[in-house]
Amino acid sequence: MTSATFHHLIAGKTVASPATFETRNPSQHTDLIGRFSDATLDQVRVACDAARAAFTQWRSTPAPVRGQIIGQIGRAIEREKEPLSRLMSREMGKTLKEARGDVQEAIDTCHFFQSEGRRLYGQTVPSEMRNKELSTYRRPLGVVGVITAGNFPVAVPSWKLIPALLTGNTIVWKPSEDAPATAYALARLFEEGGLPDGVLNVVFGGGAGAAGEFLVEMLDERRLDKIAFTGSTAVGRHIGAIAGRNLTHPSLELGGKNPMIVMRDADLDNAVAGALWAAFGTAGQRCTSLGNLILDAPIAAAFRDRFLAAVAEIKIGDPGRFDDVLYGPFINERFYHHWLAHYEWGRTDGATLAYGHGRITAEQRPAGFRGDPTSGLFGWPTVWVDVEPGMRIFQTEVFGPTVNLVTVDGIDEALVVANSVDYGLSSAIYTQNRMWAYQFKDTIQAGMSSINNSTTGAEAHMPFGGIKGSGNGARESGIWVLDNYTYWHGVNDELSGKLQLAQMDTEYGQARTPYHVAPLADPR
Ligand code: NAD
Repeated sequence: MTSATFHHLIAGKTVASPATFETRNPSQHTDLIGRFSDATLDQVRVACDAARAAFTQWRSTPAPVRGQIIGQIGRAIEREKEPLSRLMSREMGKTLKEARGDVQEAIDTCHFFQSEGRRLYGQTVPSEMRNKELSTYRRPLGVVGVITAGNFPVAVPSWKLIPALLTGNTIVWKPSEDAPATAYALARLFEEGGLPDGVLNVVFGGGAGAAGEFLVEMLDERRLDKIAFTGSTAVGRHIGAIAGRNLTHPSLELGGKNPMIVMRDADLDNAVAGALWAAFGTAGQRCTSLGNLILDAPIAAAFRDRFLAAVAEIKIGDPGRFDDVLYGPFINERFYHHWLAHYEWGRTDGATLAYGHGRITAEQRPAGFRGDPTSGLFGWPTVWVDVEPGMRIFQTEVFGPTVNLVTVDGIDEALVVANSVDYGLSSAIYTQNRMWAYQFKDTIQAGMSSINNSTTGAEAHMPFGGIKGSGNGARESGIWVLDNYTYWHGVNDELSGKLQLAQMDTEYGQARTPYHVAPLADPR
């Protein structure tokens, strides 16, 4: 893609705004990817109205036909997997391996929901009266507003767009300003799959005071029936309040500060590999990144030595030029500054910095850094030790390549510590002990857990989402997501030709004379 200007996609047409914003390759700031129209309030309104106009026809399209279109979208994405992955890597800086995984997740989601169009089951339910039938149907909600973060620019939107479309909703999507080119390309592939005009509309722009906020305002104007959001906990709380006052049920997928416990019997090499990937993949800019590494006292020192040795070997750099790097740059300057601030928190908290020096510079670069560190914002892998649960660095998501090491004594203390953050997205334990693994699974406060694997990684047919500060309990993916884009409609079909009243006209069965067992048990 050359550095052209891209516009909103509304009702099957491209619509330009007076103002534009641009995106650049975060690994090479001189590489301009494109300019994008910056939506006005009125354009967002027009997009919602286009989605409303398309709703009646789309909801009455048979679900198996909607599913067939989802299948075509999946095949279009599959065909374009490689260039789409390359575009994503260029636009937001994740490695090509991870970008391919991100795109594959969307393909898998299409495969799953294509056939869901032939199920989308309701129930037949027995009535308590004769000559009457009861049944339930899933109905679409209407017009759904979708707002997404830029760290998973294909997978995360697909988790929302695909099930919402399959169930008969129409959409206005405001993708992240960090990855609009990837979003534009993805939306074009959705269009290619056969969606009628107006079923999926895309508006570009920022969050507060811009397209994102305008889209949320559409709830108050009754132009939206639902908002589905992935992003920070602070913005999620704000959006949740607006959704609540409109009596709508939002999907809120928010931040995380995910724990990994390493017990005294763990396979340490396996645990080191899992921790390294979870803490530093995508430069720690994943909602499921490892935040707090909780080490059982007997192995704490040995694990720490092996882990720090592995951290010193990490390869970092522009993923577009070097395919062996574990991670690339910060996605944007805001993330970098937020991450940099945590060095001050750590010092104030009294934790000990075991590895890391803030931004990677020409003068101060880790041995594994490749290329020119001034071409983007790259962060040192950072490890804190002597961290305790009350500390700010323990409690707060830093969204960068940083991990805290905390020492505990035994599984009970490990679980108390793991649960003492106000997030509950992902979690992991390394142990060979089945009872400890069971205790972990039973007690950990999280929407997702791994036993002997890392905190990151999701299969497209498992429920994704968190509890506490990580979300409002809505789930993405698999069959569970269907409840977020449909409501249940219960239907009574009276065939008797008369007014039959439940509870009042029901012919309840009468119990007969009581039968007592005691005389048989004790005849005297
Ligand atoms: P963010 O909340 O700042 O932005 C996310 C999206 O919301 C963007 O599209 C942005 O433009 C928009 N937005 C921002 N302010 C808004 C407002 N006031 N009204 C309406 N829209 C607004 O999030 P971020 O910092 O860009 O992304 C990183 C965060 O997202 C992290 O906390 C991360 O953990 C979280 N995240 C969660 C998941 C998940 O599935 N749980 C997945 C990816 C990222």
